[in-house]
Amino acid sequence: MRIWAVANQKGGVGKTTTVVTLGGLLAEQGHRVLLVDLDPHGSLTSWFGLDPDRLAHSVFDLFQHQGKVPEGLPAQLVTDTGCEGLSLLPASTALATLERKMVGVEGMGLIISRALAQLWDDFDYVLLDNTPSLGVLMVNALAAAQHLIVPVQTEFLALKGLERMLHTLEMIVRSQKNQLAYTIVPTLYDKRTQASVGSLNQLRKMYPNDLWRFMIPVDTRFRDASQMGRVPSQLDPDTQGVRAYRRLLQDLTEGTVSWADN
Ligand code: ADP
Ligand code: MG
Repeated sequence: MRIWAVANQKGGVGKTTTVVTLGGLLAEQGHRVLLVDLDPHGSLTSWFGLDPDRLAHSVFDLFQHQGKVPEGLPAQLVTDTGCEGLSLLPASTALATLERKMVGVEGMGLIISRALAQLWDDFDYVLLDNTPSLGVLMVNALAAAQHLIVPVQTEFLALKGLERMLHTLEMIVRSQKNQLAYTIVPTLYDKRTQASVGSLNQLRKMYPNDLWRFMIPVDTRFRDASQMGRVPSQLDPDTQGVRAYRRLLQDLTEGTVSWADN
């Protein structure tokens, strides 16, 4: 089982879109894929037509057992997405109350790791979608993941908090385990704007080794896909955006090819 987390402390940078698009492409290749919604807003959950305000059972249930994960519970919480090969562990808005409840409870940072350990034989890939805030959910994602994908919007303001965030992520990871490899993925790239071109050049200077060699362009079909509850590559397999994600997936599975190697 390969576990990837998609995270950035900023909202609206393409995290959820990255999770659904990569997940859909992996499922098309015949892999058994689980998407996990760790964002109390539940955008990933809504994408597939479920209402995070009304779900009786969600990933939240995993956090209700004093740091332990009851045998069989993770499998019970997994639902269908309507897309073959693609399953979902949905979020409910109750997740927003976790931070308060979890303080000081032993094992709370390892809930997702332990839940996924129970699903080891059921899935080939797991993609964790994250909330923009650094809290117990993000700690869980970082502990469980083998690789971190950091979508960064190509605009000048987006670069400002990036260094601090990467530093904080590294500190969390170091307190849990040795290392976590990550790939920065430039998103919402528009070659006609100075903000996109300039910020991409700056990313290349600042993160030559951890920056993906290409970028995800602005592609309005992604918003269409989320509104229609469809996986982007199934809505249209050959848009610029889907082609870029296909290339990203290939680089991630073959060992990330960075800007510096290119
Ligand atoms: P996050 O999960 O980081 O908050 P989303 O994936 O929800 O970000 O994307 C935020 C908005 O931008 C959504 O409306 C989404 O449809 C749109 N979007 C994401 N990626 C792209 C893209 N490459 N081109 C155009 N729109 C995009
Ligand atoms: Mg999101």
